[in-house]
Formats: sequence, structure tokens, C-alpha cells
Amino acid sequence: MSAQPLPQQNFPNDLEDLLPPEVYRQAVRQADLAISITDPAARILYANDSFSRITGYSRDDVLGRNESLLSNRTTPDTVYADMWAALQARRPWSGKLLNQRKNREVYLAELSITPVLDSNGEISHFLGMHRDITELHRLERMVRNQKQLIESVIDAAPMAFALLDPGGRVVLDNLAYKTLVSDMQAAEPAHHLLDLLSPGWCATLAADAGQCAFNARETRMDRPAGRARWLSVTAAAVEMHSDCADSYFCAAGQPGLLLVIADITNLREEQERAHGAALKASLAEEERTAAIREGLSAAVFRLEEPLNVMASAIAILQRRDPASADMLRQALEHSREHVESLRQVIPQSPQEISIRVNLNEILRDVLEICTPRLLNAGITVDWQPSPILPPMTGRPLQLRMLFKALLENAIEAMNVKGWRRRELQISSQASHGCLRVALLDSGPGIPAEWRHKAFEPFFTAKNGSGKHIGTGLSRAQQVVADHGGIIDLEESPSGGCAAIVEFRIDGDPI
Ligand code: FAD
Repeated sequence: MSAQPLPQQNFPNDLEDLLPPEVYRQAVRQADLAISITDPAARILYANDSFSRITGYSRDDVLGRNESLLSNRTTPDTVYADMWAALQARRPWSGKLLNQRKNREVYLAELSITPVLDSNGEISHFLGMHRDITELHRLERMVRNQKQLIESVIDAAPMAFALLDPGGRVVLDNLAYKTLVSDMQAAEPAHHLLDLLSPGWCATLAADAGQCAFNARETRMDRPAGRARWLSVTAAAVEMHSDCADSYFCAAGQPGLLLVIADITNLREEQERAHGAALKASLAEEERTAAIREGLSAAVFRLEEPLNVMASAIAILQRRDPASADMLRQALEHSREHVESLRQVIPQSPQEISIRVNLNEILRDVLEICTPRLLNAGITVDWQPSPILPPMTGRPLQLRMLFKALLENAIEAMNVKGWRRRELQISSQASHGCLRVALLDSGPGIPAEWRHKAFEPFFTAKNGSGKHIGTGLSRAQQVVADHGGIIDLEESPSGGCAAIVEFRIDGDPI
């Protein structure tokens, strides 16, 4: 069935003609709003019942009197000047005035005045309507004071607060949170922290804020200058009420998330100091074992060379002098047995369990352990960690040994008599699912033709000292490979060596 146009109805042009004038009179008289009508000089010609109720003046009290009789004489002159400027320009005016009732009680009036124009467009009357908003104002002030109080308490709190609406926007925060914004060099630290501590929060917040909630999860924030900061973050689901008009009659709230971020740096630093001492001892122990392992491996490696020569000699001698060849073979077998027993006593690397590690933490530990050596060598360190670095799965002791070996190589390269530039830049960075650590020294660098050989076991560029058996980088490469990463040596911008290590965050091999 197609829609038919409605039949034309004959409404009168002027709807007011439908109502008898008495209805208007009674409507104005009985309105729950103080209504007064004045002449152009603001002399009262009419006042309704509510006017009398609110002001305390009877109709007879006010007839012929100027509206100024309501004035408490404390409303600023500028308010009246504005009012009259609008009215003289035939524009309606509304605002707030301090009035007093007949009994001198002061009240706050919300007043609206409309000029009534005659057929010539001249002001014939003014229509004034006002209501007592004293109580409303008191409640508004109370709410505002409470808000200010809450805000100053929140601002004075040592922890940072951020309230997120269902769309993830921060709608309320405090001073401590604003400090975090500059410290973390992030536009919205709440988003960074949530990405890190509650991945996928963004997609679930609007549907189920409870799923994004967690209690006291800790994370570390590294800064190029100054101490690293440790944060303990709690996220609690809260119900928020929308301030949109369309939700006025809707009792149900919307999901929001309240983040409370506490700085626990002092506590963690104390724990770290204790942990640092234990770590130093276990690293030293592991390094001693590694030195024995490498020394014995080097001995086995070097012993195998003459034994291989002997084996070739036996093969040549076999045809000319089989008896001597036999004697030599026995000697060779004995020697091989001895070498094998030597190989058996080489201590194995400890079996370390893989856990979630933060490379910034590992690098900080290594820097702390190496600080005395760096100071002795007069090396300045430019530490540029990524403020927030996702964790990876790894063996912390092995990783510490890896970076300690690279750091020690850099120190040794620069700590040469007469070498002037002694700068070390260490940076960490996360991008495209990878973690990248770069150690850039200002030493003499490694010649291009040695860069690959440097990873071979027992390769050393340091002649004669006898201290170096050249297993540091091969061991470092082994640790990197065990973690599915890659290591590379490049030329640093200063001409020195740049050791670059990369791991995948998900632990897969690169
Ligand atoms: P006034 O001498 O009345 O005036 C102060 C200044 O206002 C003058 O310097 C002048 O620039 C300007 N002004 C005053 N009257 C006129 C005019 N007719 N035309 C042009 N400019 C003028 N005041 C209240 O305090 N409380 C009220 O509830 C209130 N209700 C009002 C309702 C209506 C409908 C109207 C028209 C006015 C109302 N007024 C009210 C304003 C009031 O008439 C006075 O202007 C005001 O109270 C200041 O009074 P006053 O004696 O201090 O100064």
C-alpha cells in the first residue's frame, strides 16, 4: 500500500487566536516562575503570584516601583550595563543577579528579560522572568569544591592516576601522571603501559573492562639520563556515567579503566643492590669456569694439530718402515687417549633455565659490573635505552656474559696507551618484532677482512700477550645463536667497532 498525502487542514494562521486571552492571563499568573512586566523604564506594571512568593513583596508593594527594589546592591555595575546595552538594542538578556527579598534575605536570581515591541518596533514593555537558584548554586559550588578537593588530593598523591573511557581516552589524570608523560617521552604513558602489561586491552576495554584489569604488575622504564624507574601498575575496571544528553534516562554506566601507577624505584634498587652482589659472584664463578673450559679447549685444539701431523707421517712411513710406523701409531693412539681424557674433564656450561628477561635490565647489570673498569680506562658511556622494552625469553646469565664480553672487548680496544677518544654508546631498541642492542666504541675498529674471522674460535687480533686465546666472540656468537639471534660487527660512525645484536621478541630464530 503506497503512502497517501495527508488531507490539507485549515489551521488558523495565528494559533494564539485559538485560546481566549483569559487563558494567557491565568497561565502567566499561575506560572511557577517569577514573572513581571514593566514599562520601558523598568517600573513594574504587573507581577504574578510566584513573583510575590519568591520576593516576599505583594503585588501592591511593587506596582509602579522600579525593579531595582529587588537589588541587593552587590551585583557589579558591569552586569547592569551589559543588561541595559542588550535591552536597548532590543535583544533579550539573561544572567544572574544578587537580589534580596522583602525580609532582606539575599538570594541568587537567574533572570531573563525580553523586550516587548509595539507595532512600530519600539520597546513598549519588558517581560522579566526569574527563579531562585540559591540552592542549585550551593549544590553546584559544593560539587565544584569537592571536585577541587579530590583533584588536589589526587595531585598531591605520589602515585599517578589515569582514568580511561571506553574508547581508551584518558579523561582524568593527575600531576604525577603528567610527569610520567615527560619522563617516558610518550604522549600517553597509560597506553604504553597497558600495551606492555595487558596486551589486547584496546580491543576488549569497551566490551569488558574487567578483562583488562590486573593487580600490581611491575615494569621498568629506562631513561637516557638518570636512574631507571620501576613502576607498579594496577588497572581496575570502573563504571562511568556518560554526560551526553541521550544517556540522561539511562541508569547503566559505561566501562572505564582506572590505572594507578606507583613508583617503586627505591624498593627495587635495594633489591637490585643485593641481587647485583650475588650476580657479580655468580658471573665471576661462571667466568672462571669458562676460562678453564676455554683454556682446556685451546690446549686440546692445539694438541690435535701435531697429532694430525703425526697421523700423516705414519701414513707416509707405513710403506717404507712399517715397524716404526706401528710404534708411532701406538704412540699416537696413546696420545689421542690422553687428549680424550683431557677433553672429558672440560667443565660443561651450566644448564640455565629460560625465563622472561628485559634486555635493558641485563645491560644495566653489565654496565654496573663493568663500571670500575670503565672509570679506570676513562671511558664515557652514553646509555640510550628504549624507555619501554618488551621482554624476551632468554637465559639471563648467558646474556649477561654475552654483553659483558662485548663491553670488555670495547674497553680493551680503547684502553690503549695514547688512545684519546674513549666513548662508548650503548642503545636498545624494539622495532618490527625485534630487539636490537648496539654497542658502539670509538676505538680503532676491526679491519673489514677480520670481521667474520673474529667469530672463529681461537682467533685473536692481540698478539703475543698470551692472555687472549680468542674465544670471547665465538662464545658470544654461541649465546646469540642459542637465543635465535644474530650478531654482527660493523664500523661505528666514529670509525670504531659497532657490535650489533638482534633477537626476536617472540623467541623465534631470526
Ligand atoms: P539604575 O539607576 O537603575 O541603573 C544603573 C545603570 O543601568 C544606569 O547607569 C544606566 O546605564 C542603566 N539603566 C537603568 N535603567 C535604564 C533604562 N531604563 N534604560 C537604559 N539604561 C538604563 N535589577 C535587579 O537588581 N534585580 C532584578 O530582579 C531586576 N529585574 C529586572 C526586570 C526587568 C524586566 C527589568 C527591565 C530590569 C530589572 N532589573 C533588575 C534592573 C533594574 O531595573 C536596575 O537597572 C538595576 O537594579 C540597577 O539599579 P540601580 O538603582 O543600581 O541603578
